[in-house]
Amino acid sequence: MSERIPAKIIDAAATRRTPADAGGPIHTKAFSGRYRLFRILGAGSLFALFFGTVWLTWNQRQAVLWDLVNRKFHIFGATFWPQDLILLSAILIIAAFGLFFITVAAGRIWCGYTCPQSVWTWVFMWAEKVTEGDRHQRVRLDAAPWSANKILRRGGKHAIWLGVSLLTALTFVGYFTPIRELTTGLLTLDLGSQAAFWVFFFTAATYINAGWLREKVCRDMCPYARFQSVMFDRDTLVISYDAARGEQRGPRRKDSDPAAQGLGDCIDCTLCVQVCPTGIDIRDGLQFECIGCAACIDACDSVMDKMGYARGLVSYTSESALEGGKTQWLRPRLVGYAGVLTLMIGLFVVALVERPLMSIDVTRDRNLFRENSAGQVENVYRLKVINKRQQPGSYQISLDAPDGFRLVSPDLLHLGAEDILDLPVNVIWEGEQWPEPRKEINFVLSAVDFVSNDVVADSTFLAPVRR
Ligand code: SF4
Ligand code: SF4
Repeated sequence: MSERIPAKIIDAAATRRTPADAGGPIHTKAFSGRYRLFRILGAGSLFALFFGTVWLTWNQRQAVLWDLVNRKFHIFGATFWPQDLILLSAILIIAAFGLFFITVAAGRIWCGYTCPQSVWTWVFMWAEKVTEGDRHQRVRLDAAPWSANKILRRGGKHAIWLGVSLLTALTFVGYFTPIRELTTGLLTLDLGSQAAFWVFFFTAATYINAGWLREKVCRDMCPYARFQSVMFDRDTLVISYDAARGEQRGPRRKDSDPAAQGLGDCIDCTLCVQVCPTGIDIRDGLQFECIGCAACIDACDSVMDKMGYARGLVSYTSESALEGGKTQWLRPRLVGYAGVLTLMIGLFVVALVERPLMSIDVTRDRNLFRENSAGQVENVYRLKVINKRQQPGSYQISLDAPDGFRLVSPDLLHLGAEDILDLPVNVIWEGEQWPEPRKEINFVLSAVDFVSNDVVADSTFLAPVRR
C-alpha cells in the first residue's frame, strides 16, 4: 500500500517561502524531535536564568543589580566598583572568545539554541500557534477577510506578544533598578519618567524584534552572522543536506524501489523548508541565513523514519565528512582558541581572587605647599578611601617616603560596608634640609581586621626651591 508524507498535501502556493520569495511573513510548521527538545532546554534555561535571577535576594539586597546611580555592580556576595571595570571587560572578552571557539567547533549553535533573538522568536511563534493555529491555518487566516474570528485570534496573539515583551522589559530594567520597586511602580502607575521610558523602549524593542523582524535581524542586522562564516573551516559542524544520497529527489511510493526509479532518498516533501524559521531550503547548500536551529534535521529524520530509510539525510556534519573524510577535532585553530580561552579564564580567576577589597585615591590640594607655624613645609592632600566589602572594615594609612616626611592622619579608620571616606591629611617635611622641589611619595592603605594586600596610591610632595 502506498504512503505519502502528509506534508506534501499542503497548499502548494504556501509550501515554500524563502527570503527570495519576498512578501508575506514566513509561517513555520510546528515540529517535534530531539533537537527541538535541546532548543526547549536551552530556551528554558535562559528564561529561568533571566526571569528568575532578578528576584533573588542576598544580604537583604537584590542579588544581581547594576546600581547605575551609585555606580556599583552587585552580584551576590561581591560588589564591583568603577575601578573593577577591567574585570567586567575581561568577562566580555572571555565570552567573545568562547563564542569564537564554539563557532569554529560547531558553527551557529549559539544562534540556533541560545541567542535571545532566536529564543524569544520561538516563544512568539508558540504564541502564534496557540492563537492562530499551525502553519496552513495561519496561511489561510492571512488570506481570509477580516472577521470576528480573525480579529479575536490576531488580538490574542498580539496580547500575548505584548505581555511577554512587557515582562521581558520589566525584568531587563529590573537588573538596573530594584525590581520590586519597579514592579510596584508599574502596578501603581508611578514608575518615574526614566524607568517608564526604558520599560516602554524595551517592550517595543522585544515586540518588534521577536514579533515582526525575526529572521531579518539575523539576516540583515546581526554582525555575528556576517563575520562568523570566516571562522568556519572544513571541519566545522554545519547542518547539511547530503546531496549525494538525496538526489535525484522526487516523490515515490513507500514500498517502491527508488534505485530502480533513479531516485535518491529525498522524497521532495519540502517539510524541511516548511519548518525553517528563516524560510530557506537547506538542500540549496549552506546559506548565511541558516541559524543552525536543526529544525530541518528533526523534520527530515521523521520523514526518513516513515519511509524506512536511514536517518541523517539532513544532519550535523562537516565539509570533510561530506567529502568522505573524517571530522578532525584536534586542529590547530580549535586548539589555539581553547588554549587562549583556558589561559584567559585562569588569569581572570586569579585577578578576581586577588582583587583588593579596598581602594585609595589621592588628590593634591590646590595650594602647592605652605609653611606651618613651626616653619616646616607642609602639603595637604585629600584621600578617598573605599571599603569595597559588604562588611565594615578597619584600615590604616601610612606613608612610603624617604626619612624626614611625616603623615598627619587618624591612626585607625573605620568604614561601614561599601563606605567611601573623604579624608584630608597633611604631610610635613621635618628633615633638616629642604627636600627637593618635587619628591615622589606613596600613600599606603592597609587592612587591619581582614587579610588583603596593601593598596598604594602615588603622589608628589612639593617644596619651595632650596634656599
Ligand atoms: S536551514 Fe535548517 S538549521 Fe538552518 S535555519 Fe533553516 S531549519 Fe534551521
Ligand atoms: S530533505 Fe528530507 S524533509 Fe527535505 S524534502 Fe527531502 S525528504 Fe523532505
